Formats: sequence, structure tokens, C-alpha cells
Amino acid sequence: MQIKTGQFAEAAKAALNDSYTRIFLDGMHKKVKERLRSMETFPDPAAARELGASIRAETVAELPELLEKFEKNATAQGARVIWARDAEQANQFIVELARENGIAYVTKGKSMVSEEIGLNDALVENGINVFETDLGEFIIQLLDRPPFHIVGPAINIPVEEICDIFLEKKIIEKPTLDPVELGYAARRFLRDKFQGLEMGITGINIAVAETGTIINVENEGNIRFNKSSPKIQVSIMSLEKVVATMKDAVHVMRLLCRNCTGQKLSAYVTLDSGPKAPDEIDGPEQLYIVIVDNGRSDFYADPKAREALRCIRCGACLGSCPVYTKIGGYPYGWAYSGPIGQVLNPLLLGLDKTGEIYRASTLCGNCKSVCPVGIDHPSLFLYFRSIDAEKDPPFRAAARPWQEAAFFTFWAWIVSRISLWHLLRKLARPLLNRYDQINRFLKIPGPLNKWHRTRDLPQLPEKTFRERWTHLNSEVGRRKGEK
Ligand code: SF4
Repeated sequence: MQIKTGQFAEAAKAALNDSYTRIFLDGMHKKVKERLRSMETFPDPAAARELGASIRAETVAELPELLEKFEKNATAQGARVIWARDAEQANQFIVELARENGIAYVTKGKSMVSEEIGLNDALVENGINVFETDLGEFIIQLLDRPPFHIVGPAINIPVEEICDIFLEKKIIEKPTLDPVELGYAARRFLRDKFQGLEMGITGINIAVAETGTIINVENEGNIRFNKSSPKIQVSIMSLEKVVATMKDAVHVMRLLCRNCTGQKLSAYVTLDSGPKAPDEIDGPEQLYIVIVDNGRSDFYADPKAREALRCIRCGACLGSCPVYTKIGGYPYGWAYSGPIGQVLNPLLLGLDKTGEIYRASTLCGNCKSVCPVGIDHPSLFLYFRSIDAEKDPPFRAAARPWQEAAFFTFWAWIVSRISLWHLLRKLARPLLNRYDQINRFLKIPGPLNKWHRTRDLPQLPEKTFRERWTHLNSEVGRRKGEK
């Protein structure tokens, strides 16, 4: 997948002018309601979220030990665990494996980390055909588009466009706008690929350290096909997907399903501990579990940044974000969009490539308030801003423009001298009272125009808060004296 995070502002502007996307995004509040309704099926939703946050916080704190334990137990069950330092190593292993086994094509279940490392491109470049089998992923693969949403990659694609691309790719013979017909056509096409399948690739929703089990949740059943039809199964996960115990996994699963799709539990939950045993009918003969680092160990050393590794990819923060629900997923320019994209993309790609993304926030805190695992996105955005002001090299921060740096140095100098601040405030007040003229001035194209062309300074109240407070205090004192 091409990385286009540097084009955020431009792409966001284009998305705002796209009337179809706007109508679609306006309807997203229904999804938020479904999520809320399903969270209310917990006897105590707040306690359920708190438990989710503490499970994920503890997991992240013990990540190295848990991963080693997972490797030991998964290996004992007969799986082979592969550690991939970066995208290249992960892709190289999977491509080599396919080549060694003479694989002509693979089928794939939905996996965000495979989008992150560009696995499809690596396979295709090496002559191995890839068929995405999740319906949304199947559609965007045909259209050659990035995911619009981390849970529903094609939720924004109109049925007319799906019909056109299905006709073009000969998935259907006659045009139809019936979603059920289109779904059946995709199913028929993919069933054919599952027949005689040699190698299937899936993601992993949760990996359980104490048992070496990998868990997938889904609603289409395609992941089960990917896992049970072929001789070779490759399951790929980013390293934070592990939890300590099966009990923790069950709670994470309950949160994940409710926050992803508003269900108490997905239609299919698959737990695999090792490949097929000799007396079992279904399942792969060889199971490879690829654990992808891809830069996570670098920021793991930073206690604040590692909070991002709590994420379970439920997508709840996207639907609650006033920025995502105006522009959709494409402007974020990579695999992850919305608030979690604003947190993960800078950490994985570097702050220098994603400055516009983590600044595109109102800091309203909606994302934090819905996150079932307690990620404090706004404080991470502010943290990134503080890092790039300091040009911190581990995060590949780019220096801010000298004008901005000079302005804030000057500002800090003034606000740390209280008498000077009060004096300037008094001098500025008569000027600021002429807010009509100031607003007209601020709308003239120039450095302040980006912010002010759609915002006016409000009319100032007659007295400042401090003046009112002093007045109030003296009033209270006077009344007390009268008594
Ligand atoms: S950051 Fe929280 S709300 Fe957003 S996708 Fe991750 S777990 Fe879900």
C-alpha cells in the first residue's frame, strides 16, 4: 500500500467536497447508537470498560514476557512462530514459504497488519495471486483502494460501483443492484478459490499466552474457510495482540464484538491451538504464526507512546470522531484511519511524515470516552506535538517552522511574567473590543487566515473573569461586614 499521509490536508478538503461521502458519513451516528446499545448489555458497562483497560494496560506492561510465553506454548502445540522485525522480513518469509511449496495463489482473511506491511503487493510482485475473502476487502481489492474504515473497509462504496466492478471483473454476467445477489456472486467466486486451496493467510484478533491459542472473530465464515481448507495456514499478527490468559481473551472478545459491530458476539469465533492433530478431519497440516514488530519495539521504550499498543482495533473511536465523520478514511493515507490512525501512523511511520494527521484534532476527547481499553488519544496527540517541538530523534520528529518556534518562545516568555501579562492584557483590551474590525482583518488571506476564515473572534464580555472575581469577593466581604 502506498503511503500518502503527507497529503492529508489536500485529501481532507477533497473528501469534504465529495457529496456522496458526506451523505454516507452523516448516517454514521446509527453505528454509534448500535455500539452504545450493545455496551449497555453489560451489567455494568463502565466496569466492563475499566476491566478492558486494565487487561490491556497489564498486557502492554508485560508484553515481552507474554510474547515469549505465547511462543513457547504455541510451539508446544505444533505451530511454528516466526518473529519479523519489519515489513520486509514478514513479507519475505511468507513469499518464500509460498514459493517453496509451489503455491500459485493464496486466499486471505481480513488483517490490518497485512495492509500495514503491504503483504498483497509483495505476493503479487513475486507471481503469487492473492484473493481477499472478506467481502469488504474483496471489493476494495478489486477497486484497488485503501480501507475506508478499519472494520468496514468498503462501507462507503455505493452498490452501483460494486455492480460495475463485478461486471468488469466478470464476477457477475448481468448488472444487478441487489446487494444479496452481489453477495452471492462474490461467495460463488470465492468458494471456487477455496476448493483446492494450498495456502490460506489470516490475521489474529487475540493470541493467548497461557495456551498458545490464536482467536479470530468474524461474521462471514471466510476466515474459517481460510483456516480449514488449506494444507498450510499462515496467521499474522502485530505483537500487541497477545493477552495473558483465556479469561482475559474472553473479556477482550466481548468488548471487541460489541464495539466493532454492536453484537454481543460475532457469528463465528474460531480458536486454534496448533495445526490439525492426526485424528482431526479439518485444519491445516502446517501452522505458521508470524509476529510482526515493524517499529513497535522502538516506541515501546517510551511509557507514554506504548499506550497505543493497548488498541484492539474495534473501530469505536472512528465513529465518534468529529474529524473522521466529516472526511472518512482515505485522507489518513494509510492502513489506519480516525483517532487510532492519528495515534498509530505517527508512531509507525515517524512524526515527520504525519504532522498534519495528529494535528487534525479538536481535542474534544470523544475518542477517549468511547475507547473500551482506555487509550487517551488527545493526550497522545499533545505528546506528539511536544515531541516535535523538541525535535526528538527517536520519533523522527521534524522541527517546526522557525516562525512558529519563535512565536511560542516569545509567548512563553510573556506568560511566565505575570505583571507583564496583566499589563499587555490591559493594553490589548480596547483593541480587542473592536472585534468587528479585527474579524475583518483576520479574514484577509495571510498566516492567520487558515484558522479565522471560518471562525470569528467573539465579542468580549465587559469585565474579565479576574475583574468579576475581585468584584464578587469584595461584594461578599461587604455583605459579611453588614451582618
Ligand atoms: S483506539 Fe480504542 S476505540 Fe479506537 S480502535 Fe483502538 S481500541 Fe477501539
